Amino acid sequence: MTALLIALAAVVVVVLLAAAILIARSRRPSGPPSVAPPDPTVSIEKPPPKTGTARAATTAASGTVSPEAVAPAPVAEPELEPEPEAPTYRSRLGSVRGIFSGAVSALRGGRIDGATWDSLEEALIRADVGVRTTDALLADLKARVASKEIGSGTDLLSALGDEIRALLDVADSRQLRFAGEAGSVDVWLVVGVNGVGKTTTIGKLARQETTAGHSVLLAAGDTFRAAAADQLGMWAERSEVGIVRGAEGGDPSAIVFDAVQRAAARGNDLVLADTAGRLHNKLNLVEELKKIRRIADRDPGHVTEVLLVLDATTGQNALAQAKVFTDAVDVTGIVLTKLDGTAKGGIVIAVQRELGIPVKLVGLGEGVNDLVAFDPDAFVDALLGLD
Ligand code: GDP
Repeated sequence: MTALLIALAAVVVVVLLAAAILIARSRRPSGPPSVAPPDPTVSIEKPPPKTGTARAATTAASGTVSPEAVAPAPVAEPELEPEPEAPTYRSRLGSVRGIFSGAVSALRGGRIDGATWDSLEEALIRADVGVRTTDALLADLKARVASKEIGSGTDLLSALGDEIRALLDVADSRQLRFAGEAGSVDVWLVVGVNGVGKTTTIGKLARQETTAGHSVLLAAGDTFRAAAADQLGMWAERSEVGIVRGAEGGDPSAIVFDAVQRAAARGNDLVLADTAGRLHNKLNLVEELKKIRRIADRDPGHVTEVLLVLDATTGQNALAQAKVFTDAVDVTGIVLTKLDGTAKGGIVIAVQRELGIPVKLVGLGEGVNDLVAFDPDAFVDALLGLD
């Protein structure tokens, strides 16, 4: 009898063990991993596994479910550490605002005389609006005062605001373009001279676009400066996105091409590509950018934005730089960085007027949330103290 009981117990244990093994096998993912093994020249760094809401949004946007997405998520750990609130123009444009403050208080005083025009002209030039744009603005306002259409300083101030807004009104849309077509990967190329803030801008965009529900992969196309790829790698880590990088001095087109292929394989819908910006060899720069643009646009890649980054602190020099880049590639939007803490914020007006390309984003600081959509109304209000 005892022997029979022992035999029965042994059978039960064996059956339970077999069932446990079967269940464990059925839970294991089948098939090959979604990321191809890296080739010897280009490497991809996968982001650490994500948890929480942003991953869910990313996965929904890309239409794929990665192994990380279905892994059980620790409940308490937040996805991305909370960032401070986005800055306001008023809070960050203190320096350029100061330039206008004298002229603005004189206008609020009510009278329009020779001194009014002198102080307005001085403020516009000092703020780097540019001589041509300043002349055009003032000529028009003087004519309106002469014809008695404008009679008081306060009316002149609001007319100046309206005229600046009109100059900034060059674009139907300042929205970043994202096609999101099935089977294709949107590519945003980021171009500009070294030091203007390209890498930082890509880092901020990576976080913002991920939060907005896109599945982002970075391409470290600035192979000229080794530190650029490392810097981008840090942003990738912060934003928990993948990055494709190559050897120093390698071919940036190959990196962007590889990033697009890998994005398609991984289900990423947006590649943000960094590029080098060595102005001292203009011909090479132009040819390199043209090649990157061509290759990035190869199926399944689709270049939907070419963002030219300009540094507001360089004032009118930014315009000269822009000419080189607009000759090389069809620039679809300007990112004007370092608008915080510079007295040269008026360059936004000159850039829009001279280039006719919309300023889509402005940098108001170094933090991840300090890259904001350009809002002409808020900008003009902050500039002229109308807020
Ligand atoms: P890149 O060579 O064009 O890639 O330039 P980086 O991205 O390396 O930026 C150069 C420096 O500008 C870095 O110290 C950034 O932190 C800083 N920077 C970038 N954007 C802004 C901005 O909007 N405001 C301020 N104050 N600094 C910025």
